[in-house]
Amino acid sequence: MKLLCDIPSGTEVLVHICCAPDASYGVRALRDRFDVTGFFYNPNIDSREELRKRLRTTLDLIEADPFSLVVGGGGEEAWEDAARGMEGEPERGRRCEACVRLRLAETARKASELGMPAFGTVLTVSPKKDEAMVNRVGREEGERTGVRFVGADMKKGDGYLKSVRASRELGLYRQNYCGCRFSMRKDPLLGPVEQTEQGGPPNGDRKYGTGGDPAVVKPGGSAKQRIR
Ligand code: SF4
Repeated sequence: MKLLCDIPSGTEVLVHICCAPDASYGVRALRDRFDVTGFFYNPNIDSREELRKRLRTTLDLIEADPFSLVVGGGGEEAWEDAARGMEGEPERGRRCEACVRLRLAETARKASELGMPAFGTVLTVSPKKDEAMVNRVGREEGERTGVRFVGADMKKGDGYLKSVRASRELGLYRQNYCGCRFSMRKDPLLGPVEQTEQGGPPNGDRKYGTGGDPAVVKPGGSAKQRIR
C-alpha cells in the first residue's frame, strides 16, 4: 500500500469496507498506522442474498482477525437514483464514480457522526477500481463533510495479490462481480441472467440492511448474532 496523505499515526479512521477479500489486506495495512474501525455500507449490491453473504464473510474475517465494525443500512433508493441513466456505462465509468461517491459520502458522514477525524476505504485494493478516481472522490467528500480522507493506493506493494492470498488462507468467499446488477452481465464466469430493460436481472429483492440504527460489532463480540 502507498499512503497518499500525511494524517498522523494513531488517528482514528472509519474505513469503508466493500467486501472481506479487499478488507483482508486493506484493513490490515491501514491498521499498521491508524486506529481503524470498519464500516460496511454497500447499497449497490444487487440482492439481499449477496449482501448478506458479503457481510457474513466480513464477520468471518473479524473472527479470524478482530477489528471493530459498524454496519450501515439503507441507501438503496439513493443508489438507484445515482445510477439512473448510466446503466450501460462500463466499469470504471461514470456510474462507478457515482456509486463510489455515494458510499464514501456516507462513510464521511458516519465518521463525523461518530466523532472520528478521518475516513478511508479499501476500494483501491481491486485492480478493477480507478485508484485516482476513488482518491479524488474521497478527498472531495472529505472536504464537503469536514473529515480528513486517508488517500491510499492499496494495489501498490502487491496489495491485490496479498488480499487474494489472505482470503485463500482464511477461506473467505470471493465474489466474481463488483456488486451491482450491471456488473454481472459481462462476467464470463457467471451464467446467463434474466435481463430487464436496463440490462440487468430483476431487482425486486432490494430491501435489505439492518434497518434502524447501524449495528456496531466490537472485537470479540458475537458478531454473527447481528445477521438475521
Ligand atoms: S460496477 Fe461496482 S463500482 Fe461500478 S456501479 Fe456497479 S457496484 Fe458500483
